[in-house]
Amino acid sequence: MSGSDLRNEVRESFTALYGHAPESLWSGPGRANLIGEHTDYNEGFVLPFALPQRTVAAVGPAPAGEWTVCSTFESECVSFGATEPGEVTGWAAYVAGIVWALRDAGFDVPGARIALDSEVPVGSGLSSSAALESSVLTALIDLGGLDLPLERRPALAQRAENVYVGAPTGILDQSASIRCQAGRALFLDCRSYEIKQIPFDLAAEGLAILVINSNAPHQHVDGEYGARRKSCEDAARLLGVPALRDVPLDGLAAALEKLDDDVMRRRVRHIVTEDQRVLDTVALLEAGRVREIGPLLTASHASMRDDFEITVPQIDVAVSAALEAGAYGARMTGGGFGGCVLALIDVDRAEAVTAAVADAYGKPGFAAPTCWIAVASAGATRL
Ligand code: ADP
Ligand code: MG
Repeated sequence: MSGSDLRNEVRESFTALYGHAPESLWSGPGRANLIGEHTDYNEGFVLPFALPQRTVAAVGPAPAGEWTVCSTFESECVSFGATEPGEVTGWAAYVAGIVWALRDAGFDVPGARIALDSEVPVGSGLSSSAALESSVLTALIDLGGLDLPLERRPALAQRAENVYVGAPTGILDQSASIRCQAGRALFLDCRSYEIKQIPFDLAAEGLAILVINSNAPHQHVDGEYGARRKSCEDAARLLGVPALRDVPLDGLAAALEKLDDDVMRRRVRHIVTEDQRVLDTVALLEAGRVREIGPLLTASHASMRDDFEITVPQIDVAVSAALEAGAYGARMTGGGFGGCVLALIDVDRAEAVTAAVADAYGKPGFAAPTCWIAVASAGATRL
């Protein structure tokens, strides 16, 4: 569906649901992380960009203290008043969480009626949850004229997801969906929250990022994420640093010697080397040496596969097939255990790489992958 079709549909579904036109439409994008995986909660570096696929929220006013939200993904609309975490559960908790986080920060949140639709695949590691949060957050801020500067918004949306929804995610997803710009990747320091917009106009170089959705079923994601996080936090404590971000690359060997547990050593090695790969990727992009980031992407994948152990066979097969078909580099994006692969390719190789991945999936009988070219897009905005 094109962006304008989606907008028309959401506008019409709002009118059908509530009997009047919405005040306006807002949207927030899904995101892909170019490099820097699991580094966010280690207070390190990430480099996401916003996807063309967006969640669109049609929003209109409601009486004070009343919120209603409907989604094309769900059969029932949900209404709620001022709530505390735990009172609204399920998908609507993402919306109730945004209202709660704004109120908890002292804002007078306007009542609202909301209709949602989305092109962001759910649960594919492209952050449909942040797309939803950022579209609703931006709408409520604009509707209420709330004075919440852009730089404070990601942490507020993260709080909604962490505390209200109960999902212990880092700041990456919300930062990307809120702060990314078209044609740029967002370099984010997850300790200081400082950002830098990095040139990422691949079309100008004849290049493209091919997104390969493995369509692999997500399994054990929450438990494995929690285990990785704990391992990193335990390692930081044993090493006497506030976070693994504080282990420099040239201090890695010495740090590893202090740790007895082989699994923990590998987790640390992934985080420390991954932070450096993000910095190296940023330096190459800023120097206009875009093709040269390929080996960094592929090295990141190897580190996630062998040291952090968060890939699955469908993902590893997609990376290998893309590389064999001529990609400059390829890696899983997102938290792992399924989700998507990004491959840096010459734009005219898109069909050949897509065919090669589909072919490689046929042999072991994996469900077919879905591939598309992702252009770096704008963050959450009023439409
Ligand atoms: P991801 O963010 O990787 O897509 P999550 O598990 O973090 O996966 O978030 C997905 C959840 O977000 C869904 O299960 C649903 O509860 C909620 N969600 C996302 N988009 C929508 C939508 N358009 N309508 C209703 N709920 C949505
Ligand atoms: Mg999510």
